[in-house]
Amino acid sequence: MPADPPTHVVIEPLAAQRMLAGTMRSGRVEVVDGGDLARVTADPGDDVQVVHANRFEDVVPGDGLVCVVVDGEIRCYAPDPVDLTVLPERADIFDRVRGVFETDVLRDRSVAVLGLGSGGSVILRELARCGVGRFLLVDHDRLEIGNVSRHECGLSDVGRLKTNAARDLVLDRNPAAEIAAMTLKIDGDTIDELAAAIETFDVDLVVCATDNRASRLLVNRLCVLAGLPALYAGVFRRAYGGQVLRYVPGLSPCYQCFVSALPMMATDQEISSETVASAIAYSDRIVAVEPGLAADIAPVALLVAKLALQEVLGDTASTLASLNEDLVAPLYLWLNRREANTEYATLAPLATGVDQMSVLRWYGIGLARAVDCPACGDFAADLDTSAFALRK
Ligand SMILES: [Zn+2]
Repeated sequence: MPADPPTHVVIEPLAAQRMLAGTMRSGRVEVVDGGDLARVTADPGDDVQVVHANRFEDVVPGDGLVCVVVDGEIRCYAPDPVDLTVLPERADIFDRVRGVFETDVLRDRSVAVLGLGSGGSVILRELARCGVGRFLLVDHDRLEIGNVSRHECGLSDVGRLKTNAARDLVLDRNPAAEIAAMTLKIDGDTIDELAAAIETFDVDLVVCATDNRASRLLVNRLCVLAGLPALYAGVFRRAYGGQVLRYVPGLSPCYQCFVSALPMMATDQEISSETVASAIAYSDRIVAVEPGLAADIAPVALLVAKLALQEVLGDTASTLASLNEDLVAPLYLWLNRREANTEYATLAPLATGVDQMSVLRWYGIGLARAVDCPACGDFAADLDTSAFALRK
């Protein structure tokens, strides 16, 4: 124990379980934040004494940290009473917020996140926080130093496979989540393996945040054939903007339709590797500094998370239900700034106007299916796409 007693104690789930069961008499204490916080684990050690008493008033605390258990309640003294957080067991965490989040519904829903870069990791974090309970995580890279400023994982994860770091990112927020991780580069040689994994895991939704168009087209074909809804997220060079494509089987245009219809817009690039990031961020540098890259990627990732929730919730009655009338477009556009040498350079400033197109707003874009699309065209001729023709 440090000279100054801690002002807050956190008791790990296993330690709490054993204390309450009466099978733990001492445990290990990890002191962090310069002694301000003590974490009690059930590891062997005698840093903390666990006392079972009839009444809290009966306890005479010594110099060190003492945990007292009376009638299923834990308190800590060091030697005065100390604020206490008892971490729940994994399965209990979302029981505590039931009614606040739609967790009962979401805990059984499964999302495959393909590409765990700056975009994919933010999307994943949001879905985990919302209580989505099952994830299939796919990436082949390791976290590099250059990723850290944009990625949800930090310096302590550099060198780790992104799949492993992302798995821990989820478990730190939703310890009850079921996670399957595949270290796999999505290409023509691996797409069948990916398809099998998606089927085995019974995936409800595919989120494609990979960093190249070839992999997206492969994933698109997979989703069209499997009848799986999918979201494709991408940012433009130096993240001056981005777009999200929502694929609804049998209803909306697919990613191949999008590429065919808007080839220039489809030349987005997700910034998931250091090489790609450097090329996007710095190769055609015009300005001296480029602050806020992560903040420019975040809006795109957050819309994907919203669309993902909308997709997996379906018609479930929830606070998000009205969004089913708002988010009906197959394609969404976001602009972070009036980037020079683009068609958006001459937009009027956001200012206080509401009628003109501007930066920092979402735009839903109607996009028709391509009847002759090589991916989804076989099914296109007799389908009603009017719901997606918002801006014709
Ligand atoms: Zn198509």
